[in-house]
Amino acid sequence: MLKTILPRAAQRSVLSASRAGPSKLSTAPAYQILRQVRRGYATEAEDYDVVLIGGGVAGYVAAIKAGQEGMKVACIEKRGALGGTCLNVGCIPSKSLLNNSHMYHQILHDTKKRGIEVGDVKLNLAQMMKAKDESVNGLTKGIEFLFKKNKVDYIKGTGAFASEHEVRVNLVDGGEMSVRGKNIIIATGSESTPFPGLEIDEEKVVTSTGALALKEVPKRMVVIGGGIIGLEMASVWSRLGSEVSVIEFLGQIGGPGMDSDIAKQTQKILQRQGLKFKLNTKVTSGEASGDVVKLELEAAKGGKNETIEAEVCLVAIGRRPYTAGLGLENIGIELDERKRLVIDQEYRTKIPHIRVIGDCTFGPMLAHKAEEEAVAAIEYIKKGFGHVNYGAIPSVMYTHPEVAWVGQNEAELKEAGVKYNVGTFPFTANSRAKTNLETDGMVKMLSDKETDRILGIHIIGPNAGEMIAEGTLALEYGASSEDVARTCHAHPTLAEAFKEAAMSTYSHAIHS
Ligand SMILES: Cc1cc2nc3c(=O)[nH]c(=O)nc-3n(C[C@H](O)[C@H](O)[C@H](O)COP(=O)(O)OP(=O)(O)OC[C@H]3O[C@@H](n4cnc5c(N)ncnc54)[C@H](O)[C@@H]3O)c2cc1C
Repeated sequence: MLKTILPRAAQRSVLSASRAGPSKLSTAPAYQILRQVRRGYATEAEDYDVVLIGGGVAGYVAAIKAGQEGMKVACIEKRGALGGTCLNVGCIPSKSLLNNSHMYHQILHDTKKRGIEVGDVKLNLAQMMKAKDESVNGLTKGIEFLFKKNKVDYIKGTGAFASEHEVRVNLVDGGEMSVRGKNIIIATGSESTPFPGLEIDEEKVVTSTGALALKEVPKRMVVIGGGIIGLEMASVWSRLGSEVSVIEFLGQIGGPGMDSDIAKQTQKILQRQGLKFKLNTKVTSGEASGDVVKLELEAAKGGKNETIEAEVCLVAIGRRPYTAGLGLENIGIELDERKRLVIDQEYRTKIPHIRVIGDCTFGPMLAHKAEEEAVAAIEYIKKGFGHVNYGAIPSVMYTHPEVAWVGQNEAELKEAGVKYNVGTFPFTANSRAKTNLETDGMVKMLSDKETDRILGIHIIGPNAGEMIAEGTLALEYGASSEDVARTCHAHPTLAEAFKEAAMSTYSHAIHS
């Protein structure tokens, strides 16, 4: 490690100082460099095979993959922790709160009928947040370990292009350095899209980041946007006792990818859990005054106006690529109309050795999509070929029950004029779901009318997020619904509902 990172002169200086004894060693100029190296910094402008700007899922996975491929690699991250949005303020903390708030809610409302009587149940929000922070810290430290294992130099600072091969880094602990890369990959991620006129203070008017760290349960919460992030956060705070209203401009929740049958069922279930919805409704303005946030609402198609008040307002209207301060102007790379960095199929910008992966370019803003691109981008650099099937990227909403889908939904097939078969199977008819007293939801499968090739799978139900892996594999391998239907599934499992939905797509389900 010392040999690979320290310049040769510095190596010699440290070596001779160390021979002269400990007092000499600590004053040697190169000792300072060595200490920096020990803290995980690279130390000088040097040539790397690959430099990653951004240590989120896209950046850190690409860095590890590059290390595994024997490339000399550095990863620049400004946050002071690896893992990006996903680990620090996204997937992981939200799933921690979703899991634990669900347990709390279940203990309060769903144990008596199971023969479990519990005494006083109290929420300790500070402890719930601590549990979340511990999960996050453990995982981010895990990536640091993987960096060391795969010989990735971790540079803590903000990177900006000085030229096409050189990145200037403003170090987190002060000072600057430069790194040169034969290949440079931009993986700077995304940020919450602001709502015009509503100033985010992350206490009363919050993005998902603030919603993951509230210090007390707000009496009322209003969520602008009924997409996945909005509904996950709405679920957390509603379970913990807040009165939550979700305002959605479109006529259905879950965002455009969610099949409308599934979205309708999801909305009903979430309403039963206490969430309130206003669909086809536009927030026209908002302001925080005193202890409340007031939003003015209007029917999306114009007309009726009303005001809604809450102690906390979550702005969850989407995310936008983040490229601020990257020095793109120094290399002449431009953004498209949605602020995405433009790339070709091999993730190359118009400067071929500069590539882009993850949230800051095209495609769904999902951690597993970023991860796939990271591996493929390194393979393109190293071997000249890579693979990501954008037709088989699953989406999961981790509410209770979970909602998951992969491939196309019914509306998309109709719009494309594709003739299809539909098969469904409800969890009310699945023995495991019945045993677990968790029968909400269904599996819906769509296959090509002529060839029976599976085109889309949509699930709402317990563990849908795990079950969708089978659907994704089926889609990836071009399976027909008959292929799945003739595959033996263990009994009693929730996955049998998946098999029966396939049976109902090409023939008949047995149990419904
Ligand atoms: C609340 C929430 C929940 C989510 N849940 C899920 C989920 O369950 N499943 C899922 O698949 N996705 C989820 N996502 C989306 C997921 O987090 C992102 O798709 C994923 O993090 C994208 O990875 P990335 O590496 O492209 O970007 P990011 O994770 O945003 O990482 C980019 C990194 O680059 C750093 N950076 C930026 N500019 C510079 C610079 N100039 N120099 C150095 N560093 C820089 C940033 O500090 C950041 O750490 C969620 C997002 C949110 C907000």
